[in-house]
Amino acid sequence: MRASGSKIQQIASSVRPRTSAIQSTPYSWINNSTPSSSTGTLAGKSIAIKDNISYTPAPTSCSSSILQEYNPPYNATCVESLVSAGAHVVGQTKMDEFGMGSLTTHLPPFYSLVHNPASPSPDEPPRSAGGSSGGSAAAVAEESCWAALGTDTGGSVRLPASYCGVVGLKPSYGMISRRGIIAYADSLDCVGILAKEVDDVEQVFDVISQPDGGDMTCSSSSSRSIASKILQRHFPKNGIRGLRIGLPQEISISCPPSLIKYLKSQGAEIVEVSLPALSKALPAYYVLASAEASSNLGRFGGGWYGSSVEREKANKDESGEERRKRIRTEGFGKEVKKRILAGTWALSADEFNNTYLKALHLRHLLRGNYQSLFRIPHPLSPTRSITVDQGGIDMLLHPTAIRTAPVLKSRQDKGSDEYNQDLLTVPASLAGLPAMSVPSGKGKDGWPIGVSLTSQWGMEGLVFKLGKVVE
Ligand code: GLN
Repeated sequence: MRASGSKIQQIASSVRPRTSAIQSTPYSWINNSTPSSSTGTLAGKSIAIKDNISYTPAPTSCSSSILQEYNPPYNATCVESLVSAGAHVVGQTKMDEFGMGSLTTHLPPFYSLVHNPASPSPDEPPRSAGGSSGGSAAAVAEESCWAALGTDTGGSVRLPASYCGVVGLKPSYGMISRRGIIAYADSLDCVGILAKEVDDVEQVFDVISQPDGGDMTCSSSSSRSIASKILQRHFPKNGIRGLRIGLPQEISISCPPSLIKYLKSQGAEIVEVSLPALSKALPAYYVLASAEASSNLGRFGGGWYGSSVEREKANKDESGEERRKRIRTEGFGKEVKKRILAGTWALSADEFNNTYLKALHLRHLLRGNYQSLFRIPHPLSPTRSITVDQGGIDMLLHPTAIRTAPVLKSRQDKGSDEYNQDLLTVPASLAGLPAMSVPSGKGKDGWPIGVSLTSQWGMEGLVFKLGKVVE
């Protein structure tokens, strides 16, 4: 176990090529070891990983003070797969503490803020790289790594991808093992991939999207093969001719008209569709994610997890309860505490029916909305039929974010304004569907904008196909 502060010393002692200013580095730890010569499909590829993905050579801190000295006993399954395929882990990236945030501003005070590298001019004030995987997106955008892993519970890969002008995939729920990922909200958490090009994201996906007996929610080989048979049987091998793309009418911000025109010219059919439950997705998400987080974060309190420095400080007269309270009070940041309180409240006996169950019901409605739109049924639906609904769509298309990257003001709590950033990303998370943000030009302010492609569960192949046309 390394002494407290060692991560910061590591960063201070190493400057990666093209890392613009160490003050705003996206990394919380940099791997200074020389890459060993490797073979495999990812040989020679440098990959950064978000700091909530277990990685044994360094503490996995979730950008939280409480875990600064936590060295995981094993590597996450996705990291093992990357390393076995020859990839070199270049470092761990900063994130909003425990994945809670949209701007990568909920960081311990000893971490510098991450600056978005996609600035159109050096005179521009720094903007946020998005969150919570802002460090991973910025590392890809500044080209200090070839690809990066993030996690996406409600948009944490897609939003930073959109703000930084890179590609970001949230796969179907259960496609990539969560073994070794420090949980935020289990029913929503997904490992996601960021890279400059769709091809690169696909290459990483092919390596880490595997069944895993170590994660009971990771889909089995038989579920995967049902999905891939449907994909092969129903969709064109080349191009997007005949692909039916839906534009949700509830989303008032539109995709660039030149993109729609281009997709039509390539033979796609564009139709307007409706997702009536879309407006309820954001409140439902924040209730469910906070409820799950309040339960998941109960394990941090200086027992198995929590800093040894805190333990040493323990005063002999302190009761176990007092010690746990002190460690949690000092170790968690403000936003994390807020979510724990909100989640505990939603799960309390008085509120359960009125808050938690209502949010679950809204999630169910939204899932139904999506399923009624798709041309092919959910591959794992017990009632699935082989016939396709010709009136249905194959893909949804809409902007990833409600705006371009916001100016980086401070670390303070941004309240509901920050939560609103997730308006267009949480729906696919609640429905467990694959969604990918692909850069699609610049906004009026010169900063990148991204569009999101969402498809049926297990149809990543289709998402990659359309993504390559869009980029
Ligand atoms: N911004 C959302 C939240 O704070 C999503 C975060 C995520 O996907 N990890 O919950």
